[in-house]
Amino acid sequence: MNRGDGDGSDDGQGVDPARVSPTTTVTSLAPAAFVDLAQSFGITLSDGQITRFDDYRALLLNWNQRTNLTAITDPAEVDRRLFLDSIFLLPAIDAALTVMDVSPGRLIDIGSGAGFPGLPIKIMRPDLHITLIEATGKKVAFLDACIAHLGLERITTIHGRAEDLGHDPVFRGQFDIVTARAVASLPALLELGMPFLQSGGRGLFPKGLDIAEELSAATAAAPLLGGRIVVTRALPGGQTTLVAAAKTGPTPDSYPRRAGIPAREPLGHLDRSIHDQSARIARANNRDRTNRPDRPPADRPAAARGTT
Ligand code: SAH
Repeated sequence: MNRGDGDGSDDGQGVDPARVSPTTTVTSLAPAAFVDLAQSFGITLSDGQITRFDDYRALLLNWNQRTNLTAITDPAEVDRRLFLDSIFLLPAIDAALTVMDVSPGRLIDIGSGAGFPGLPIKIMRPDLHITLIEATGKKVAFLDACIAHLGLERITTIHGRAEDLGHDPVFRGQFDIVTARAVASLPALLELGMPFLQSGGRGLFPKGLDIAEELSAATAAAPLLGGRIVVTRALPGGQTTLVAAAKTGPTPDSYPRRAGIPAREPLGHLDRSIHDQSARIARANNRDRTNRPDRPPADRPAAARGTT
């Protein structure tokens, strides 16, 4: 775990390149390429931010040769599909924090993996307090190395599962924004994410284009969790739908359910409820058969039933 509480002096600009220059063997893409790409979407990067993205890319590609962090190995794809897709969330984050009137905001990123979208957001918005939750230890080790290498402050990594941390009073109800990218279906993300938010907070979940089914399940699940789906809209690049959920009331203590259950048995899933209904009927039929008078009660130990 990296506790990165800083003194507020770091504004993400004017980083000393000597301090952050990568000690890696992978040559990263020329910084200019990412600058131009970002610029084509109207995003301007400071010199300090350019240096940090360049170092992040180099570190990611280097670690990825030994540790399975991401399937993306092409530097240009890292820029487009990881960095840029992450920073496309910024307008929604800025807007949500303005509406909430909180400064500095507190953001938690569930299932960060190699840092997406939490780390690029940190590079772009150094004042935000960011917590990265990740269940896989070697990914947390990478995140910690990256945070130290890039000299980022006010950012914390937690090795653990959202299902457990969501019940911990240190984290529950403590955040303004929750993000999660490529972690689970929408209803599962709501169950994992809503408990972390304070009332009025926002869940921001980038998704693919074909989300009708999980969106309808999430819309049904949201009220059970003290949430409501408020916006779905296309992000730049044409590959992503951003789904935003608002925390409208308290999340019942029973959520999130045990580790693995939110993803395996998503709330509000219409097909799933049909499945559950037929499973209940099947169980009832089995019980009836088991309780037929010509068979011993199933809950009595075999020894007590005798051998006849
Ligand atoms: N968000 C990253 C990683 C996606 S892969 C990206 O967009 O590239 C999903 C990651 O979520 C994995 O690293 C996995 O370990 C983590 N994860 C899955 N379920 C989790 C949970 N319940 N709590 C914490 N981390 C979880």
